Amino acid sequence: MIEKATTKKISPDELQRYARHIVLRDIGGSGQTKLKNARVLVIGAGGLGTPVLQYLNAAGVGAIKLVDFDKVNISNLQRQVIFDETQVGLSKVESARENLLKQNPYTDISIHDYPLDEANVDSLVGNCDVVVDGTDSFASRKVVNRCCMKNGIPLVFGAISQWEGQVSVFTGKPCYECIFPEEPTGEMARTCSELGVLGSLPGIIGTIMASETIKLITGAGKILERRLLIWDALYGESRTIRTAYRKGCPTCGVETV
Ligand SMILES: [Zn+2]
Repeated sequence: MIEKATTKKISPDELQRYARHIVLRDIGGSGQTKLKNARVLVIGAGGLGTPVLQYLNAAGVGAIKLVDFDKVNISNLQRQVIFDETQVGLSKVESARENLLKQNPYTDISIHDYPLDEANVDSLVGNCDVVVDGTDSFASRKVVNRCCMKNGIPLVFGAISQWEGQVSVFTGKPCYECIFPEEPTGEMARTCSELGVLGSLPGIIGTIMASETIKLITGAGKILERRLLIWDALYGESRTIRTAYRKGCPTCGVETV
């Protein structure tokens, strides 16, 4: 039997909670209802994933799925402001859920305490409306990109290193692999733990990723598809570059017709 999808309505208490969205022209009551009925997968409860989680949760996204396998480390607290000292050594997904439910009890948060891989990506991405990738692993990003493009699910991408961050949204051509076809090597492959990262940078990039997710769900504005936003915190500058389909891309270039 096919389960009939029912639209969940906003309760009077939620009307008060989301009042500033409801008066906002491009969201309104209908946009807030779309948020309540949306399902978002957030990959990684790290620097980028945690501000995404906090803002999507506060904004009233109805169902959030979170996958990460790590534990909270003392060195995370410099930028992952969702966690506190009492949670050092504990599971990231459980600690994040505990704090998110304190922030907004109306959200349905499901947690998956294991690494995302090729074997489980389909079930994780499954029936989600948007996927937000907050990982810093090229291999994982590629697997997620392939799954999202195959299923026609929009993918919000972000990356950070030292003082600079990038954001884009992939909805088809071009996809992540068009822009980043090869695994980075040498200096480019070094992680935040080796090169360092400004504490507030993932907050900036993560909240832009959350904003793109809200726009995707509500249909507001113009999303960052076919564009890559680059934010340079050291010089306080940003620029947006056009991105293009890469001929022969193995992910989005194969015609299925
Ligand atoms: Zn592609």
